Amino acid sequence: MHRQMRRLLVVGAHGDDETLGAGGTIARLAEEGVTVSLCVLTNDDGSRSETGSGVINRTAAIELAAKTLGIERLRIHEFGDNRLDTVGHLELNRVVEREVRDFEPDTIFTTGMSDLSTDHALVSRAARVAGRPGKGSVRELRTFEVRSATDVGEASGLPITFRPNCWQCLDETHLERKVEALRAYGKELEPWPNPRSERGVRALAEYRGSQISVGLAEAFEIVRFVHH
Ligand SMILES: [Zn+2]
Repeated sequence: MHRQMRRLLVVGAHGDDETLGAGGTIARLAEEGVTVSLCVLTNDDGSRSETGSGVINRTAAIELAAKTLGIERLRIHEFGDNRLDTVGHLELNRVVEREVRDFEPDTIFTTGMSDLSTDHALVSRAARVAGRPGKGSVRELRTFEVRSATDVGEASGLPITFRPNCWQCLDETHLERKVEALRAYGKELEPWPNPRSERGVRALAEYRGSQISVGLAEAFEIVRFVHH
């Protein structure tokens, strides 16, 4: 089914981007034998720290979420949340390029350029630089949508550039693992109708599924796919 995908590198700005954007797909691909590596660029609560008294250990949360999804390899970098714009492009690019060189993925999943989060857009660009043609083994590059970043970007007048052209069908078990991984992030799961609520995550999976007449799916935008 995924004969061409063997090594998947997921590049996210924040721990939880990978789960919100592609958690069900990662769970499914890992189950099917794809080796998955996760690179998270920031590791502090930054702008979110004022939202509650329940302080979570973000590193432990990322590790637990990764384990739940079947991610084998994890690299957490220590840039500041919502401060990636203070990091030079060269430095950010080099960090992601090193991930690509070390892991040699054939596929990269990353955040989108049109998300409201500036961190997401910067990470998306760095992943595109690291996975550009002629640099290593990357044949496929996709972006995913992150609830409360991609959708809120749309609702805030940013140009819509997330145009799904790839759907991964999911079973109920994959969605369950996505929700379980989200729970690792504790306070990131909000009550309905917040987009990061369990029901909000399910609603998007049902909507993306119904676009292609299946029960559940995650949608992606393929930036590049090279056939051999
Ligand atoms: Zn994020």
